[in-house]
Amino acid sequence: MSLRPASASDLLIDGKLIPGSGGVFDVVNPATEEVIGQAADATLDDMDSAIAAARHAFDTTNWSRDATFRAHCLRQLRDALLAHTDELRELTVAEVGCPVFLTHGPQLEGPIRDLGYFADLAESYEWTHDLGEAKPMGIRNTREIRKEAVGVVGAITPWNFPHQINFAKIGPALAAGCTVVLKPAPDTPWCAALVGKVIAEETDFPPGVVNIVTSSDNALGAQLSTDPRVDIVSFTGSTATGKKVMASAAETLKKVFLELGGKSAFIVLDDADLASAVSMAAFAVVTHAGQGCAITTRLVVPSEKLAEATALARDSLAGFAAADPTDPGTICGPVISATQRERVESYIELAKTEGGTIEIGGTRPADKEKGFFVSPTLISGLDNSSRTAQEEIFGPVLVILGYDGDDDAIRIANDSPYGLSGAVWGTDRGRINRVVDGVRTGTMSINGGIWYSADVPFGGYKQSGIGREMGVAGFEEYLETKAIAEPT
Ligand code: NAD
Repeated sequence: MSLRPASASDLLIDGKLIPGSGGVFDVVNPATEEVIGQAADATLDDMDSAIAAARHAFDTTNWSRDATFRAHCLRQLRDALLAHTDELRELTVAEVGCPVFLTHGPQLEGPIRDLGYFADLAESYEWTHDLGEAKPMGIRNTREIRKEAVGVVGAITPWNFPHQINFAKIGPALAAGCTVVLKPAPDTPWCAALVGKVIAEETDFPPGVVNIVTSSDNALGAQLSTDPRVDIVSFTGSTATGKKVMASAAETLKKVFLELGGKSAFIVLDDADLASAVSMAAFAVVTHAGQGCAITTRLVVPSEKLAEATALARDSLAGFAAADPTDPGTICGPVISATQRERVESYIELAKTEGGTIEIGGTRPADKEKGFFVSPTLISGLDNSSRTAQEEIFGPVLVILGYDGDDDAIRIANDSPYGLSGAVWGTDRGRINRVVDGVRTGTMSINGGIWYSADVPFGGYKQSGIGREMGVAGFEEYLETKAIAEPT
């Protein structure tokens, strides 16, 4: 079977592949600006049908009670997607503009394989806990805790790592016994819709268990966060939208799970190998053109080494030209859209008005007539209180800042509304540990350590989110706890 949409992708609602009632909208290749096809444009009515199907499947089938069958369906989906890897790789690079090298990891193959981790978890998880006997109010009771699926999940996702984020939601949610309505970002509908096609045509998922609703209209996301038939909204996206989701979910008191923005700090201690540390920081910020919530976008170096570190960062970034994402050697591709490029460029202009110096980049690459490319950019001369250093840019833009003493480095890292990620480089273990303990974030990398893995919980402190994705913690987000007692 070929996955390539003949003209437009379809919605998956109640087990059927159907066109969107709103017609279609364009899918644009960010590297070429070409319209490469269309996606089904769902309306509020389509979303209503999808929510109804998910509710019906949860309430009337055995899905939530049959972990063995759920594991079977998830492994079947993993294997079917793996059989389509090459086709998916081509379509993903064309739609997302991500460098093809990333599709061997978190942009495609990693998340597909992670479905197996969640299938295993469905089978191995201890669904019941015996609390033993107790005599509350003088009556002897046996007590038990049972874990149960939350119910219908409204999953809302962004465009930067679509497969990773889609699967990090539907994998654990389905393994937990929930049913799902997935609404992907308007910029990357195909990554989700093609999975819907595989689910419909090559797996045993019962109708309504997974519903995939692509749309150009953000109102469908809002609909998921307000509809009383949805039990939990699992949202990844910007902090601004996350706040709206949380506010609108309050009306029906549904659970909210939020993975939001970041402005993470890369701290180089004064005993670190400066050249290695700075080149790693440069590599991180250009990867997928800086469009990663956990990318470290503030490089925090000892003040006495600021000039040297700036020169090193400039040299490193010069080695990462924004280039064709289909080239296996490309690290920095385009940003997702003209709108996103304008946003990045507006921050570069803002940096200048704030007194920053553009050390390198700051422009569109001269050799690219088409495509939403931004040259890797280094900005110096700013204070951490500047908007450029405080706000998420989501482009290949690194701000370099000086600090005086380890406490000051920790202070700068924490002087942010966000708390998603961070990095520290150094040699003294005690000082490294003080930094790791002091920085208020959900993940920390020491000397280039990579925490990304199916079994590692990921998420944010402060305004970077609520809850954890991936790992056992990410699975338990989709569970309720029921306490049961019986007199003996
Ligand atoms: P966004 O917030 O604009 O959109 C995210 C999703 O929300 C899209 O599907 C969009 O259609 C939908 N949406 C828009 N308005 C909505 C509303 N009022 N109610 C419900 N849904 C609505 O984010 P984006 O521009 O697509 O993605 C970039 C952002 O995502 C960045 O801020 C980045 O840091 C964040 N992100 C966070 C993580 C994480 O795990 N913490 C991962 C990736 C991206």
